[in-house]
Amino acid sequence: MTLEIKDLVVEHRSPGRPVVRAVAGASLTVRPGEVVGLVGESGCGKSTLARAVCGLNPVTEGSITFEGVPVTPLGLRRRTLTGVQMVFQDPYASLNPRRRVGDQIADGLRTARDGETDPADLLERVGLPREFAGRHPHEFSGGQRQRIAIARALAARPRMLIGDEPISALDASAQAQVATLMRDLAVDSGAGLLFISHDLSVVRLIADRIAVMYLGRIVEIGDTAEVWDNPRHPYTQALLRAIPKPDGMGVLPEELTGDVPDPAAPPEGCRFHPRCPFAMDVCRVKEPEPGPVACWLHEPA
Ligand code: SF4
Repeated sequence: MTLEIKDLVVEHRSPGRPVVRAVAGASLTVRPGEVVGLVGESGCGKSTLARAVCGLNPVTEGSITFEGVPVTPLGLRRRTLTGVQMVFQDPYASLNPRRRVGDQIADGLRTARDGETDPADLLERVGLPREFAGRHPHEFSGGQRQRIAIARALAARPRMLIGDEPISALDASAQAQVATLMRDLAVDSGAGLLFISHDLSVVRLIADRIAVMYLGRIVEIGDTAEVWDNPRHPYTQALLRAIPKPDGMGVLPEELTGDVPDPAAPPEGCRFHPRCPFAMDVCRVKEPEPGPVACWLHEPA
């Protein structure tokens, strides 16, 4: 039940505009029962990667396999509806406002061909009262709606859950609860979870491993405690310094005050070099090799 992403490239093409290489050679594995957090600033390619995993963005180069089978447009329907389920950023947009939530969850149950489970059982599993099944999405708060979206995803008995910024539209109080819920539900059922977020502190709470993405590439990956306590890539170090402290005085490092460069015209060499305080001559001309830390400072001797 492993999800394997290898040297993935996803390009966006529109007439008269430069090709945007939103994912530019990313490799990542998510094993059964494992939670991998994928972090990075907006525009770094996280969501494009997630959509490619679900077959919603075509793969330009490289491969994505799930349970050993390539994720291709041909395999899209079966895989999207059953094996891999995605929870999106905006729970209101992903639910049909005119249908009762119980009916929407029942759609997933029919997909899984499991007539024994009641939609209300799934609502209970995500911490909501059974009687909510008869209500419509507008009757709920953002956090409750995201729980409903998770219940609907679980109805298809997924073996891999993808959360694409599933907490970023929620109140601070609901964020950790929903993230922890997704982790518990995935791990309890033996499914993997790829949890995409720009919030490193929440990812730290739930992920077994953290992958850090910058401008289409994964620049650091490792066990959560290792990355958190000893970040090695200068970009990871900058992201961690940007996390608000308990006194509310988060310090935004100088290198992160600018925007992520345009993926249609990425910098030569290391993509982070225009923002990196440690940039050397080699960084401006040669891209670091992919690996646990893609940085010339950490090349094996
Ligand atoms: Fe900085 Fe060079 Fe490492 Fe890139 S390769 S992060 S520019 S030190």
